[in-house]
Amino acid sequence: MNLIDTHAHIYQEDFLADIEAIMSRAKENGVSKIYLPNVDVSSIKEVKDLVAKNSDLFIPMMGLHPCYVKEDYKEQLAGIEKELCEGKYAAVGEVGIDLHWDKTHFIQQQDAFRTQIRWAIKLKLPIIIHARESLQEIFQILDEEYRDGLKGIFHCFGGTAEDAQKIISYGFKMGIGGTVTYKNSKLPEVLKNIGLQHIVLETDAPYLSPVPYRGKKNEPAFIIEVAKKLAEIKNIPLHEVAAVTSKNAEKVFGEW
Ligand SMILES: [Zn+2]
Ligand SMILES: [Zn+2]
Repeated sequence: MNLIDTHAHIYQEDFLADIEAIMSRAKENGVSKIYLPNVDVSSIKEVKDLVAKNSDLFIPMMGLHPCYVKEDYKEQLAGIEKELCEGKYAAVGEVGIDLHWDKTHFIQQQDAFRTQIRWAIKLKLPIIIHARESLQEIFQILDEEYRDGLKGIFHCFGGTAEDAQKIISYGFKMGIGGTVTYKNSKLPEVLKNIGLQHIVLETDAPYLSPVPYRGKKNEPAFIIEVAKKLAEIKNIPLHEVAAVTSKNAEKVFGEW
């Protein structure tokens, strides 16, 4: 079985002591690739160091995360743009708008998102979108900035059936992670009517561990629980979920 974790932040220092064990557990569960979204200028080195450990397994992406958009965001963007142009990255990400934690920099978040969409178009890279309590604000900007050929993922999708249709209309995929396994999640109901060809898997490790690992630090090996849940929702074999979602990820990222 081949599973792809399209979104994991396991490059921070507190993972490094345990990284060999995390990598072997991932491989034991069939995870062949782990995409690493950057968050700001200070995390670039961490992402690169982990990729240097195993560049077949770990694939870097480069962007400024909306929660890290502050007063200095233009300097942050300059550092990230430089890295994006000089290095080899699978996507611009993660980018987007987050109105859950702090709305102080909403204007700056919008501007940073717009700028980074333009980079993705220019560099012909997919974008990885973080949308927390901000789907409508994201759609508004994407409607204006979208150009033919732009690809991407709405990571940690948690929207309605209508939101899903809007995402499908861009030709984007939805990243599904641990939240789909939660008891009160409305996501299984929404996903029932969405074709598997629009879905990719992710952990968002170390956050959002799936059942039965809630409360534990999430890691790529646990993605199997997300795949199992999707197999149950769709009433199809697990290997089919693995095959289709991995193919979908490859369509977004191209050959890596
Ligand atoms: Zn995110
Ligand atoms: Zn993330």
